[in-house]
Amino acid sequence: MADTSLMDKLVSLCKRRGFVFQSSEIYGGLGSVWDYGPLGVELKKNVKDRWWNAMVHARDDIEGLDAAILMHPKVWEASGHVAGFTDPLVDCRQCKNRFRADDPKIKGTPGQPDAQCPVCGTRGSLTEPRMFNLMFKTFMGPVEDSAAVVYLRPETAQGIYVNYLNVLQSSRQRIPFGIAQIGKAFRNEITPGNFIFRTREFEQMEMQFFVQPGTDQEWFGRWREWRMAWHHSLGLKPARLQWHQHAGSELAHYARAAYDIQYQFPFGWQEIEGIHNRGDFDLSRHQEYSGKKLEYFDQANNQRYLPYIVETSAGADRVALTLLADAYREEQVEGETRVVLGFHPGIAPIKAGVFPLVKKDGMPELATALYHDLRKQLTCFYDDSGAIGRRYRRMDEAGTPYGVTVDGETTTNRTVTIRHRDSMQQERVEVSRVAEYLKQQINAMP
Ligand code: ATP
Repeated sequence: MADTSLMDKLVSLCKRRGFVFQSSEIYGGLGSVWDYGPLGVELKKNVKDRWWNAMVHARDDIEGLDAAILMHPKVWEASGHVAGFTDPLVDCRQCKNRFRADDPKIKGTPGQPDAQCPVCGTRGSLTEPRMFNLMFKTFMGPVEDSAAVVYLRPETAQGIYVNYLNVLQSSRQRIPFGIAQIGKAFRNEITPGNFIFRTREFEQMEMQFFVQPGTDQEWFGRWREWRMAWHHSLGLKPARLQWHQHAGSELAHYARAAYDIQYQFPFGWQEIEGIHNRGDFDLSRHQEYSGKKLEYFDQANNQRYLPYIVETSAGADRVALTLLADAYREEQVEGETRVVLGFHPGIAPIKAGVFPLVKKDGMPELATALYHDLRKQLTCFYDDSGAIGRRYRRMDEAGTPYGVTVDGETTTNRTVTIRHRDSMQQERVEVSRVAEYLKQQINAMP
């Protein structure tokens, strides 16, 4: 059953603690557009860094790319987005709301007298479905006519396809090899929602792997395995991750085979990443529309072919939401409710809180010196206000895995306490060993 109260709690925690704010809030907000605050930006950066590390830095066969958001309009004709990136929509003539034609809240058949608007309840006010393109359109240069139309990219993948020969030649890679990219994408979604799950501006982490035709299914299998292992490495609960295979009728026009990695959100199982065998659809279309040969010459076998593509496409915002939903828990401790974001330390926005137990007896000076040393190596937060218990609770809510407290003993035996967020156990560690200890703990995670 959908746990909507958990989503409400998450949204309010995210605002209160500075993970995510509504865009342009002082003007009443902008529909399904969100801003990341100080903690949120660190969380999302950790997701992107871990992805980039796994996909680019840890491998010899993948190169990075950062293509522009604006591309030649023909790209979107070749990709099929101008003709096909559409959703069927219906309008209510009475209340002017707009819905997807397949919205389960609509009773009856849109366009018919029996159909009922899910918002105002009027019967017979819904129009026949009309196709609506999800791409944001704008104009390049001073003249707003059809010749100047450009689109905000609805996916990052096309920037990779059109650069594939540039990257191949400049990096001296050979097939099989991949190109990875992280960047913004924009979709004028009709039914956005569920916080940062479906937004109109979002970030994708996409990798396109170019392979010899005939080896594509084998690579597709490997990439499915590697991508699921990456989600596990974020510390997500394995029982909340599953595969969803696209049946024939669900397959996108470009796909030979497709699997989604789904996460069990409070609002149900939903896609967080898609892994697709795209065959030679993309390169053959770009070859046709650009008139440029995009074939690969395999010297070893003296063969020329259009590579097939295996794609892995994840959303950085969706992964961030997954981590928040997975980490959130409430516990009863000494008659009080403790809210914890139990992030894997590698993902946590702040790795350690540093506290003087009280603001006297030289403790603030020692704690400040330790904080200045630690923050060169880890993200840290210094807090000297309020009772120590309250400071721990604030760090629990921010998902900070370690609390380092300078107390009376520190001045005499040069040790501090390190408190573990999940177990709340404390241990004493020498001041000179704190940085090394914390780094060891963080790196010990998979
Ligand atoms: P959905 O069916 O949920 O709209 P999709 O199948 O259209 O997703 P893809 O086009 O395969 O999604 O995009 C790849 C990934 O990009 C998705 O798995 C998701 O993580 C992310 N993504 C797509 N659309 C959005 C969006 N509107 N907001 C946030 N992330 C998105």
